Amino acid sequence: MLVVANWKMNGLRRESIDRAKTLAQMESTNRLKCDVLLCPPAQILSDIRYAIDNSNIFLGAQDCHFDFEGPYTGDISSSMLVDVGCTHVIIGHSERRINHSETNEIVARKAEAAHQVGLNTIICIGENMEEFKLGQTVEKLSNQLANSIPDSANLNNTMIAYEPCWAIGSGSTPTLTEIDDTHKAILEFTKNNIFKQGEKMDILYGGSVNEKNADSILDLDHVGGVLVGGASLITEKFWSICKSADRKFK
Ligand code: PEP
Repeated sequence: MLVVANWKMNGLRRESIDRAKTLAQMESTNRLKCDVLLCPPAQILSDIRYAIDNSNIFLGAQDCHFDFEGPYTGDISSSMLVDVGCTHVIIGHSERRINHSETNEIVARKAEAAHQVGLNTIICIGENMEEFKLGQTVEKLSNQLANSIPDSANLNNTMIAYEPCWAIGSGSTPTLTEIDDTHKAILEFTKNNIFKQGEKMDILYGGSVNEKNADSILDLDHVGGVLVGGASLITEKFWSICKSADRKFK
């Protein structure tokens, strides 16, 4: 069970360090059984690494390049992420797919580069509103799964995050039944088409998760964690979501 904070391009250094330190302090006092991962903007990865040093909180990045070095202005390689202490990286977030024209093939190459240096990948997939309305969700996700997950993926280095594009930052979510059914379909497809143990993979849900709906989403049989954007910027809200995940172990 994993709770991921995706801070996106938010927060200056001081406030982000303070937020991370507060969370680390809370975690080390409570020793959560669920895993917690902070994915801050790249320029403060090092600062956040030190801020969470005495806790069990993991450090992750929001993206990486598919090459290890070279003429790629503004990009960061997977080996650079390991070098600053990252254990995880989010790949193929819809904001990267849409705003940076990342195709499934690019996502797969990035994930492979991350696996090569020992990073755990959280590979994001999700349908847009039109596809959702037309009932094409599973078809879209199957295509993304088939083409975004590299051969290097396995149960130990890969998690899938199901994030309907229309639910991100909108305050709307699919119904609980829709979330659970979609996660079940993802697990089924992964087992049949990607790797045998795929049905044991943790599938995270992301899209307008907050402190009010986290309990019921995390209660679903096929949900293995949550990826949180907006609510992860507010310490109390994010901590409440972490506690919801932790309760699943009691
Ligand atoms: C996200 O961008 O991954 C996300 C889930 O955002 P939000 O929680 O704000 O919908």
